[in-house]
This record gives sequence, structure tokens and C-alpha cells, in this order.
Amino acid sequence: MEQKPIKGQIGLLIELQALDTQIYAFNREKASTPGYLKAIDDMLESKKAGIKQAEDSLKGVQLKLKEKEGSLQQKEDQIKKLQGQLYTLKTNKEYSTMLAEIEGIKADNSLIEEDIIKFMDEIEFARKKISEEKELYRIEEARSQKDKEIINLKAKDIEAALSTLNEKRNVIAPNIEKQVISKYEKTLKNKDGLAIVPVENGSCGGCHMGLPPQVISDVKLREDIIICGSCLRILYMEDNVEIN
Ligand SMILES: [Zn+2]
Repeated sequence: MEQKPIKGQIGLLIELQALDTQIYAFNREKASTPGYLKAIDDMLESKKAGIKQAEDSLKGVQLKLKEKEGSLQQKEDQIKKLQGQLYTLKTNKEYSTMLAEIEGIKADNSLIEEDIIKFMDEIEFARKKISEEKELYRIEEARSQKDKEIINLKAKDIEAALSTLNEKRNVIAPNIEKQVISKYEKTLKNKDGLAIVPVENGSCGGCHMGLPPQVISDVKLREDIIICGSCLRILYMEDNVEIN
């Protein structure tokens, strides 16, 4: 099989590189899509967990309030009972001892009442805060839904663009010598999507290292595939490239 002239091959590789540069960029964008979606879900999940925690702590305060109310009720019943007994007592001493007991319980009760008021305030504050947080969550959730839709639409656009680019690629690729394209594709993979670069002011357009004059004149000759000694990318001269 006769070898096709290298100069034409270089032209095709440049065309292929133009497509592959876009393909690599789209693929990078595509790869970041799941991360974006996950970040949105994680943010919502953490807000939800915060609300759940606030609700649990509210339940705790409600329970403490119930206990205090129960204990207040119990002590008030006790006072009633003692007050009923006051008139059955026979001596002044017994009477004043019981009165003092009743006063003691009343003093306890006013402390309990203070706690009850404090817990009721806490509950009111927590309820308000939870309801605000829930409202914010609803807004955030709706916004996230829209963001996710945009990301998913963008992913579809990327897929469509990739399929167009790959179609174009499949038209060019079969016209390139097997050995040449295999060298190109290997470099493409190893060098993150940039396999063929122009010589720029005597340097490699990929790694920017200076090129020896012999290499530059070999590139100009266009009789063989010439690679950069530093980054191993394929080199070409911008001003003497023949496309197709
Ligand atoms: Zn280089």
C-alpha cells in the first residue's frame, strides 16, 4: 500500500485537533455535571437536617414544659388538700406550721411558673424560627429545581454537540494513515487533548520549550511526523500547512 504524503496527513491532523479540542472541552464540562447536581442535593439535604434538628429540640422543650405543668398541677392539688385540713387542726402551733408549709409550696410554684413562662417563650421563638426556615427551604428547593433543570438541559446540549463533533471526526479520521492517527491518538490521550501544536517563534506551541534548528527544519520539510523532544507532541509549521 502506497503511503499518503505526510503534508496532507498533517493538514488532516490539524483539522482533527480542532474537533478534538472541542470534544475534550465538552467532555470536561460533562464530567463536572454530576458534581454540580450532587452539590445542590447536599446543600438541600443539610438544610433539611438543620430543620429536623430544630424540630427535635423544640420537642424536647415541649416535653420539659409538660413536666413543669404536671408538677405545678400536683403542687396546687397539694395546697388545696392542706387548706382543707387547716380547719381540722386543733392547736395554733399545728395551724401555723401548716400555713408555713403551704407558703413554702406556693414559693416553689412561683419558681415553676417562671420556668413555664421561660419554656413557653422558647417554644414560641423556636416555632417561629422553624416556620421561617421551612419557608426559606421551600424557596431554595424551587430555585434548586430550576438550577438542576438548567444543568440537565446544558448536559443535553453537550451530548448533541459531542455527537455532531464525533460525526465530523469520523469523516476525517479514515483518511489518515493508521500509524499516523494511532500516534496522534496516543498523544491526545496522554497530553489531555492536545496532540499536535504549531512551532511558535522557534518553540513548541504545547510546552513552550525551545526547539533545536534541526527539528525546526525537519518540521518545515514535512516528510515525516516530527515530535517535540520535551512534551512529545506532534509539531507543524503554521505558514506552510496544506489542508486536505
Ligand atoms: Zn513540546
